Amino acid sequence: MTITNKIKQFLGTDIKVDKYALVDDPIFGKVAKENAPDKWVRSTCGYCGVGCGMYIGVKAGKAVYSKGDPLHSVNFGTLCPKGLSEHKMVYADSRVRNPLVRENGKLVAKTWEETFEHTSKEFKRIQAQHGKGAVAVLSTGQLLTEEFYALGKFVQLGLETNNYDGNTTLCMASAVMGYKQSFGSDGPTGCYEDFEKADVIMLIGANIADNHPILKLHIAKIQKS
Ligand code: SF4
Repeated sequence: MTITNKIKQFLGTDIKVDKYALVDDPIFGKVAKENAPDKWVRSTCGYCGVGCGMYIGVKAGKAVYSKGDPLHSVNFGTLCPKGLSEHKMVYADSRVRNPLVRENGKLVAKTWEETFEHTSKEFKRIQAQHGKGAVAVLSTGQLLTEEFYALGKFVQLGLETNNYDGNTTLCMASAVMGYKQSFGSDGPTGCYEDFEKADVIMLIGANIADNHPILKLHIAKIQKS
């Protein structure tokens, strides 16, 4: 810190001009000078099912900025706090950067090679002792189609078990039963345009301003019009 800034800070007149300075940006008009990116990469927020469009600002090969896509029909340039801080989790100190294997009750950092070998040996040991069906796989709903296919083949042909279930059953089972009983079909019925066309919107047991603030914006827009 320069002596001038120190004096300004002491006198309470330091408005941190450099820290909060803005520069021109071709997409967003103005952005913080401190993090002004070299380029923007268009993407979709992966945190929740609202599906906001976003841009990730990249500076010197690092993600430094997250901004809502102003032309995206879901969020119209806005993001909730999770989306706005999305680039931060890439470099978070608490992020797990390598596999951890529990040894004598403690998690120990390992290389991928060591971890694959260890996991493979353990699967084989368990199946040799207790049979093929002693191993089961629960998959996530966040895999892409090709990854689901590869995992399914690994479970059936590699582990030789049918004990495989996914998020689609675990998470959606109750919702699907509700859809079927209410509407006769298991497909989710809503889309964002429905908000604009609905005469009445009932929110029961949900605080979307807290949990899905971008959806709340759609409703707020109607309330204003
Ligand atoms: S509502 Fe928030 S967490 Fe969900 S997609 Fe949009 S920015 Fe991401």
